Amino acid sequence: MLPKPLAWVLLVAQALAPAWSQSSLPSLGDGVEMSISAERQLGDRIARELYRDPDYLDDAILGEYVQDIWQRLMAAARQRGELPPELEERFAWSVVLGRDRSVNAFALPGGYMGVHLGLIAVVSSEDELASVLAHELSHVTQRHIVRIISRQSDQAPWLIGAMILGALAAASNPGAAGAMIVGGQAAAVQGQLNFSRDMEREADRVGYGVLTQAGFDARGFVGMFEKLQQANRFNDTGAFPYLRSHPLTTERIADLQSRQQLQAHAAALPLTMVHAMLAARARMLANPEVDSLRAALQQAQGETIVTMSPVQQAGVFYAAVLGAQGLREFEQAQRWQERLEALVRSDARAASQARLLGVELALAAANPRRASTLLEATATATAAGSGKTATRSLLFLRARAWTQNGQARDAAEQLQIWLASRSRDAQAWQLLSAAYAAQGQTLRAVRAEAEMHAAHLDYAAARDRLRAAQELARQGANVDHIEASIIDTRSRQIELLLREQALER
Ligand SMILES: [Zn+2]
Repeated sequence: MLPKPLAWVLLVAQALAPAWSQSSLPSLGDGVEMSISAERQLGDRIARELYRDPDYLDDAILGEYVQDIWQRLMAAARQRGELPPELEERFAWSVVLGRDRSVNAFALPGGYMGVHLGLIAVVSSEDELASVLAHELSHVTQRHIVRIISRQSDQAPWLIGAMILGALAAASNPGAAGAMIVGGQAAAVQGQLNFSRDMEREADRVGYGVLTQAGFDARGFVGMFEKLQQANRFNDTGAFPYLRSHPLTTERIADLQSRQQLQAHAAALPLTMVHAMLAARARMLANPEVDSLRAALQQAQGETIVTMSPVQQAGVFYAAVLGAQGLREFEQAQRWQERLEALVRSDARAASQARLLGVELALAAANPRRASTLLEATATATAAGSGKTATRSLLFLRARAWTQNGQARDAAEQLQIWLASRSRDAQAWQLLSAAYAAQGQTLRAVRAEAEMHAAHLDYAAARDRLRAAQELARQGANVDHIEASIIDTRSRQIELLLREQALER
């Protein structure tokens, strides 16, 4: 997620550095554990920088896939009494996707969870992905993060934030990290922030319980463990930075193997249609270069395709659609999408994903009519109960189709309903802004843009957009007075948040 450590850490250090004297630091240390709200503040501070990273990705389809697993695990943790109500209420519980192709996932302070596309692409099932998330979730619920941070009690929170971001950057790019921190501090910084062996074993134990309680197949745990062991054997930590932050110590391996023996009789988990398709999506989004787009098409056209199982074919066809679409060969992309849809017809969840892909393609090809047809089919399937509701991705695709198709008013209405209970959904604000702009409602469009920045905790950018909106309102002839007064109110609130943010340091 953070491929440019040097620039990154410097930028972050500047962005997080206190604007004024050190004396305004909140008391973090003094041997007292950081409070839940202080941990959340630190997490917000780190998340704000991640959202600005060019590799940050809000892909509604993959996001929904990961978020679904995350919600099931959280429900299981709650049932098992592993998730204290105060933690559940105060933390963000938000998954942040990174375009990085390396295999990594990391828990951050305040309930934020980072997942690289490389992890989604390398796992063979939803259950394997869930096993990693369950382990990370357990680091959060067991408050391991705050225990590590408390060891840094003599450091200012902004510096701890910069250290965590620095460690993430180093994990993503070990070569550059060596050059980055003068005097070999990189290893020291990372060492200070690593979980202890006991914490790792605890996260394995608690995570395993949460995983199985959530109804995931325990073989997912075994499968993931085998992948990590194999990478470990080849010392493949470049592609598996996850191994560097979660080393397979002898004790961990012994613990894991004793659990594995319980499963020894079990056969390997079968690859599912939906996972094959979404792993292909992760792979394609992480590798958007022309060569890999072409390679995906070639694989679908190759002779080996007939030797593959239908599930494998589904992954290959899905990748071919994205490959052709990326090359702007829309007719070819549509042919592959139709083949995919025919292939997965009998699997309701996969069929719904194939249609969503078709809608996305139709929008890219500026074919809103086809997009509408596919959206209707999805709505019908959902209503009939034969498909899993893909709420957020479906809403977003529908909003884009409607905005393109002269129904921007309907799009705005649906997005407003969605945002009423999810004001931190930046992409929804962005789509709402586009829907307003399409109707010529400039003032509202600019305000929605401000809300998009606020949702990503970038209050300075939000304030700039609100100022631009106020300027528009002053100059405008037919000003929407209600909207103008909302803008004034939001400006005052955002100013206040900015001042609080400065004081937090
Ligand atoms: Zn761990």
